[in-house]
Amino acid sequence: MTQVQTRQLTKRFGKTVALDQVDLCIEPGELFFLLGPSGCGKSTLLRMVAGLLEPDAGSILFNGRDVTAMPTQRRNAVMCFQNYALWPHLTVKQNVEFGLKERKISGGERTKRLNEALESVRMSQYAQRKPNELSGGQQQRVALARAMAVRPDCLLLDEPLSNLDAKLRNEMRLEIRSLCKSAGFTTLYVTHDQKEALSVADRIAVLREGKLMQVGTPAQLYQQPNSSFMAEFIGQANLIQGRVLERDGEWLGIDTPIGQLVARGEAQLGHTVRLCLRPEQIYLDDASLAGKISDAAADPGWNRLSGECISSLFLGESSEHVVRVRHRELRVLATPPQLNVAENISLRFRPCDVRVLSE
Ligand code: ADP
Ligand code: MG
Repeated sequence: MTQVQTRQLTKRFGKTVALDQVDLCIEPGELFFLLGPSGCGKSTLLRMVAGLLEPDAGSILFNGRDVTAMPTQRRNAVMCFQNYALWPHLTVKQNVEFGLKERKISGGERTKRLNEALESVRMSQYAQRKPNELSGGQQQRVALARAMAVRPDCLLLDEPLSNLDAKLRNEMRLEIRSLCKSAGFTTLYVTHDQKEALSVADRIAVLREGKLMQVGTPAQLYQQPNSSFMAEFIGQANLIQGRVLERDGEWLGIDTPIGQLVARGEAQLGHTVRLCLRPEQIYLDDASLAGKISDAAADPGWNRLSGECISSLFLGESSEHVVRVRHRELRVLATPPQLNVAENISLRFRPCDVRVLSE
């Protein structure tokens, strides 16, 4: 298994800085995601790791060894492209065999790997077809099988599920995860789909305009966003500005437009901070729910606010309410019952659920 590192990796295209001094360390066997909006530099980073594109500055290391100048065919890093790149004149079987032949894998081992790879993407029955006799999704799965059959040190996947329908995409997510994990590949997986990243990744790096914004496990990125960009990029967020009035260890008293709040975090007295409060971490203290409020909820340490219901949307398993608190609108995700517009609502949330953002 291979550890993959990038150090201060930089790439410019004319005036565009596609990647700006990116430091990453992907552990052996890790399923690591690059996530970010279109054009943020994900494919550029992947192509440099594959050796298909030369960086302007910085370096790439495999197991501590500098491979920046190593030609692509000598790195065992295999790329699976967004647009398949299958040979049109070869059958599915021949396409998957191609990389194995190139690597001089023959006989029983070749057959075994071929069959395993086709089986894993459920394409065995199409082995004799040509790419133009397959749907887009099927072509993508063949491309995946071709990359996996080679058993790369580093498997590079560029939006591998973007052409599949929603149902297959969901199934393939988990399949790719279990394939990569059981094979022990170090995998770099590019996507702009945050649900895909959150549900499949060991860790995620978020890029924005070529810059690395944050690296962490899905839960860390969600629970501890380091900036307002991250808070809004992963999940939903109520962002509230405030000033630190009191500080007692890690507990902060913060003056905000919706009232004085207690939060947990790092900030200097007197400084302006931004707070992130997730909609599902706000609880309703509706009179009709009084009987259901647990002892914990009665804890005086909770933040408590009251406001007026502006809208209430039934979403099935939950409801989304907008509650106006002193001219500020807070989004609240809670289980039904529905609220009535203009109804007076009491809200509560834990101080530890109010994240203090660093920028
Ligand atoms: P992503 O994969 O995140 O959508 P890319 O890595 O493809 O983004 O592109 C990052 C930036 O670099 C974009 O602004 C893109 O237009 C630019 N770019 C990528 N490849 C080239 C190229 N070959 N020539 C010029 N600009 C490029
Ligand atoms: Mg791309």
